[in-house]
Amino acid sequence: MKCTICDKNVTTIITKELRKGEKRNVYLCENCELGILDSNLSAEELKKFYSEEYRKIGTPNISHNSNPQELFDTYSKFQEERIKILSPYLNKKTKLLEVGCSAGMFLYNVKNQVKEIVGIDFDKKSAEYTSKKCGCKVYTTDIKETPLPKKYFNVIVAFQTLEHVKNPHDFINNLKEYLAPGGMIVMEVPNLYDALVYLYDLPKHKRFYYHSSHLWYFTEKSLKLIIDKSGFKGKVYHTQDYNVLNHFHWVDTDTPDSDCNKGLNKPILPLRKERSEKMKKAISNFIISVDKDYKKMLAHLKITSNIIYIGKLK
Ligand SMILES: [Zn+2]
Repeated sequence: MKCTICDKNVTTIITKELRKGEKRNVYLCENCELGILDSNLSAEELKKFYSEEYRKIGTPNISHNSNPQELFDTYSKFQEERIKILSPYLNKKTKLLEVGCSAGMFLYNVKNQVKEIVGIDFDKKSAEYTSKKCGCKVYTTDIKETPLPKKYFNVIVAFQTLEHVKNPHDFINNLKEYLAPGGMIVMEVPNLYDALVYLYDLPKHKRFYYHSSHLWYFTEKSLKLIIDKSGFKGKVYHTQDYNVLNHFHWVDTDTPDSDCNKGLNKPILPLRKERSEKMKKAISNFIISVDKDYKKMLAHLKITSNIIYIGKLK
C-alpha cells in the first residue's frame, strides 16, 4: 500500500476488520499519520454508491434507514461549533459553497450570515430537500460538471466529505479553482485520534469506528499535510460532538447508544420529577459543567471526534 501524501510504501496495519465484520485492512503511514483503507472501488463505482446506497447506511439512528427530513431534524441543531469557528471569516459579501451538503443542516444555519449559498451533494433526495429548505441551488454532479464560475467563492466548506473521496488531491485541487482570490477552504473530517478509538481500549467500538465508506483516516498532521500540499496554509481546530455521557456509555458497555440525539445534546440525567428544583438544577448544572470540561480536555489533548482545517491559498 502506498501513502498518497509521501508516496512511501506503508506496511503498518491498524485494523483488519471494519463495521459489520467486513474483513478489510486499514493501513497507517506513520510518517504522515494517514490511515488508508485497502479499497478497490473505482471513482465511478464510488459515485454510484453515494448517489444510491450511502443514505441507507449513513443514518442518525443506527437501527433504520434515514431520509433528508430526519437528517435535518437531527443534525441542524448541532451546527454551533462549526458556525462559531467560521464566523470570523463570514460577512454579508461572502459567497459560500458547501460540497457534500447532505440535507442542508449547515447551509440552513449559515445562510443569514452570508450573501449567497450554493450546495453540492450526489444524493438526489438530499439535494432536492436542501434546495427547498434553504432556498438555494444544489447540484448533484461533480463540481467540474456544474455551470458554477471559477474563482467565484470566498469560502468553500466540506464537512465529513474528504474521507470519502477516491483522490483527495484531485478533490482539493478542483475546489481550489472555484475559490476567489484570498478565498478560504474549510474541511472537517473524523479524527483518527478520537478518544474512543485512540485512548480507550474498546474492541467493539474499534470495529464500529472503521467502516467501508471511509477511504482515509486523518489526524491534525495528515489533514494539514494533504491540504497544504495543494498550496494552502491553514490551521486545524479540534471539536467534540458526542457528550461525556455518550463516552461513558461506550466505556461501560462497549456498545453504541441507540439514539444519537442523546449523545449530541447537552447531557441529561434521568431525574425524578418530584424532587426539588434546587436539587435537580444543581445536579444538571454539574453534569453540564463536567461535559464542558471533558470536551475542553479532549481538545487540549487533540483526541476529539472531529478536526477542522481552515486555510487560505498561499
Ligand atoms: Zn505518508
